[in-house]
Amino acid sequence: MSEAGKPLRVAIVGSGPSGFYAAEALLASGLDVEIDLLERLPVPYGLVRFGVAPDHAKLKSVSAVFAQIAADPKVRFFGNVALGRDVTADELAAMYHAVIVACGAGADRTLGIPGEDLPGVHAAGDFVGWYNGNPDHAHLSFDLSQEVAVVIGQGNVAIDVCRILARPVDELRRTDIAQHALDALAGSRIRDIHLIGRRGPVQAKFTPKELRELGALPGWQPVVDPAALEPGEACRRELTLPHVVHAAKNLDILRGFAARPMEAGRRIHLHFLRAPAALHGDNRVQRLVLGGQQLSGEAGAQSAVATGEQYELDAGLVFRSVGYRGTALPGLPFDARAGVIPNAGGRIVDASGQPLPGWYVTGWIKRGPTGVIGTNRADSMDTVAGLLQDVSGLAAPRPGRQALASLLESRSHRVIDFAAWQAIERVEQARGQALDKPAEKFVRIDDMLAAARGAPP
Ligand code: NAP
Repeated sequence: MSEAGKPLRVAIVGSGPSGFYAAEALLASGLDVEIDLLERLPVPYGLVRFGVAPDHAKLKSVSAVFAQIAADPKVRFFGNVALGRDVTADELAAMYHAVIVACGAGADRTLGIPGEDLPGVHAAGDFVGWYNGNPDHAHLSFDLSQEVAVVIGQGNVAIDVCRILARPVDELRRTDIAQHALDALAGSRIRDIHLIGRRGPVQAKFTPKELRELGALPGWQPVVDPAALEPGEACRRELTLPHVVHAAKNLDILRGFAARPMEAGRRIHLHFLRAPAALHGDNRVQRLVLGGQQLSGEAGAQSAVATGEQYELDAGLVFRSVGYRGTALPGLPFDARAGVIPNAGGRIVDASGQPLPGWYVTGWIKRGPTGVIGTNRADSMDTVAGLLQDVSGLAAPRPGRQALASLLESRSHRVIDFAAWQAIERVEQARGQALDKPAEKFVRIDDMLAAARGAPP
């Protein structure tokens, strides 16, 4: 830095995996850094807390790594502080040498078909947030008195939705699932779940571990038409491509499902080459119309093309699980078509493609909603590498942490630091202990703030 002896002051907006991995990469740089992690909610960890399914506890254990990063004296957590609500982009730019936006992709893609707004049709993300106790979704309700549920899309989120609908509540009871979700799922009458893919089994985005779990749910049987599992010429070529890593395993698992003898009980039906065309119902969704599809194009780039055939499915509850998308942040450029912040290798660029000095982006809001938690580590290292290349040109001086703390204090804004979050966490764990769960999360922001204060919620 041109300002000798002063640390590089960086704000990171968002405390999910990409935000924490950006902090880790900055710490590993060996530079004298001061890192402030801003989080909209009073609680950290983003999709590790609110996205990862409660029955995948192992995946959540990465939060221990994040807690270690937060414990570094160079890092400070500013929970309950949102860009655009509590502090503006211009104010942050004036306080920090660099700002890294790591706010994820909080909205859901839509299908764009008639009937999508009928009651009973939901975004998968709303359901995921609801069962994970996200304050943005905790108030929602889902009509689990229906017997038939449909999940549109064949990614890992679709599998999560399907598995949480089907897993016996006694198996969920000892997870950190929100109590309201557990209570509602205990009364579920769902007997059939349809998982709809517009392309074939070779193109399905779910991964083998997650697919296998669908076949191991007590009381449920996976159903798949063996004829749908015969790959054509292009699919056979596709299976040999190096980047199509999971498809052969998925196909084996699906063949295993198809070979199982039919038994009585509840069923998960996997459909391929069926695209949603319309949703119908009088006062709420009752039927889904599907258009038959065939694959067209080169191996590895095959798309679904309508055959003209139509099919109908009864559907009392519908989840569209066709991917997430980012949303615009006040004062920052946004590519509404792609749902990301436009950037060149992590440097945020304006409409003319010019970098915005001092502004960086990482994670799903940078590259789109793809990859697993660990994918964000490489992504954030990449963004931070670009930032470090720019260090000599970043404007100085910058007041950083003190200025942000003073600004928020002048606005009488309540900041939750990491110790306060840990106080919330301890109460959540104690509430969980009473129920034999790892934690009973607070689902209302006021309750989180009260727990941070040590007050009974
Ligand atoms: P995803 O993996 O991109 O899957 C989206 C699915 O929606 C695909 O099957 C896609 O089909 C389908 N789709 C898109 N538009 C559609 C349309 N108009 N009509 C019908 N189908 C449509 O997204 P995701 O499931 O939301 O997952 C997001 C990321 O989180 C993924 O990287 C995922 O692996 C990760 N994740 C991981 C885990 C885990 O590790 N356990 C759990 C949850 C999520 P096409 O392929 O034809 O576009």
